[in-house]
Amino acid sequence: MPFASLGLDASILKAVADQGYTEPTPIQKASIPVIIEGTDVIGVAQTGTGKTAAFTLPLLTRLIRTKNSTHQGRVRCLILAPTRELVVQIAENVAAYSRYAGVTVATCYGGVSERPQIAALRRGCDFLIATPGRLLDLGGQGHGDFSAVEYLVLDEADRMLDMGFLPAINTIVRALPPERQTLMFSATLSREIETLTKQYQRSPKLIEVGRRTSPAETVTQLLYECPGALKQVMLHHLLKDEALKCVLVFARTKHGADRVCRKLQTEKISCAAIHANRSQSQRQRALQAFKNGEIRVLVATDIASRGIDVDGISHVFNFDFPDQLEDYVHRIGRTGRALATGTAITFVTREDLGELRRLERIVGKHLHCGKLQGFDYTQQAPPRTPEDFQRHQDPRAGSHNSEREGRPQGGRHGGFRASQGNYRPFGRPGTRRTGGPK
Ligand code: AMP
Repeated sequence: MPFASLGLDASILKAVADQGYTEPTPIQKASIPVIIEGTDVIGVAQTGTGKTAAFTLPLLTRLIRTKNSTHQGRVRCLILAPTRELVVQIAENVAAYSRYAGVTVATCYGGVSERPQIAALRRGCDFLIATPGRLLDLGGQGHGDFSAVEYLVLDEADRMLDMGFLPAINTIVRALPPERQTLMFSATLSREIETLTKQYQRSPKLIEVGRRTSPAETVTQLLYECPGALKQVMLHHLLKDEALKCVLVFARTKHGADRVCRKLQTEKISCAAIHANRSQSQRQRALQAFKNGEIRVLVATDIASRGIDVDGISHVFNFDFPDQLEDYVHRIGRTGRALATGTAITFVTREDLGELRRLERIVGKHLHCGKLQGFDYTQQAPPRTPEDFQRHQDPRAGSHNSEREGRPQGGRHGGFRASQGNYRPFGRPGTRRTGGPK
């Protein structure tokens, strides 16, 4: 089925062709016509399936077809996503898909200056892509006119709930016009998500592509037994293979990620780390260098396990088993995206074996874990450096892995207030916001 048969606007089709997409992915085939029709959708799809285009292409089409001068200065489509990186990525996609369409796009996320975001909110835009925390913050100060929002997308909704964004989402959504089309995308369909759809959607159509928690079919999963003290040695051993060109390594903690990265650098392996203790500009720079192929390895905490779309990641390493087993699926989904193939390698310590059995239940298949052929399991673990030792002694080091960002702080603002014309406030001034961060 070609893209042309899905009812998309001609300018969008041209931009899609520029991207080199020849045919729609299953989630795109199923969602695009339904969204163009104006129906609310709950999309449950494997990560890396082309989900972003599945909602942005039809929304762009609807927006272009109804655009008129009354929309000036107002947000028409609001997309909420859990992380800054995902916001930036969605905005890049929207910009690429709308290059022939004259659509305005703005972003709003934490960790960077508020000023340009406030200016963009004042100007208004067709598409606003935001993390809930920063949007609540700026909306609370009265910036932006949300009285004409026609389309709302909650992307990675399950992740946003995990991150404690529910109170912020509730406040934001209550301030939007009830007459709107609402799309919700989630990797899993939990009871909480179902509650949210009942609250915010009208007769939504459920579109589910593939098994709910099955990892991308295109990823080969290899699991190797590895004593904790030999993990770094095993990583170096495997990285001797030049075929591992573009490698994403997941560590459990921020300090752990830094440690792995430093040790790779001492072995002259080009590498950077990305986690919540790094500034937004450091994170963007590291990601860009990885995307450009300037560095071979990116070491990340679970902040990068969702949404980050880097073409051509050949290998994903689970250096540490994920804390939340569901993250396994999102981590390994960073490779094998769209139509490419990839390999996911997981190091399994004796302590991880119980979790491995639970993971098998989640992915719905047996995961064989064996010894890595050619690796010397009898070798002595490298001695700990004084720094490792210090970290080990410090109970705080590495134990706190809050990758949450932009969470509503509460108390700074009385709630979103009216600022412009017939603006519909995000909550009433002087009243307490319901709920708060978990
Ligand atoms: P997503 O699941 O939205 O993060 O998309 C994963 C990757 O698939 C991105 O690199 C997209 O550019 C790419 N992609 C999206 N739709 C298609 C398509 N129809 N054909 C080939 N690649 C696609």
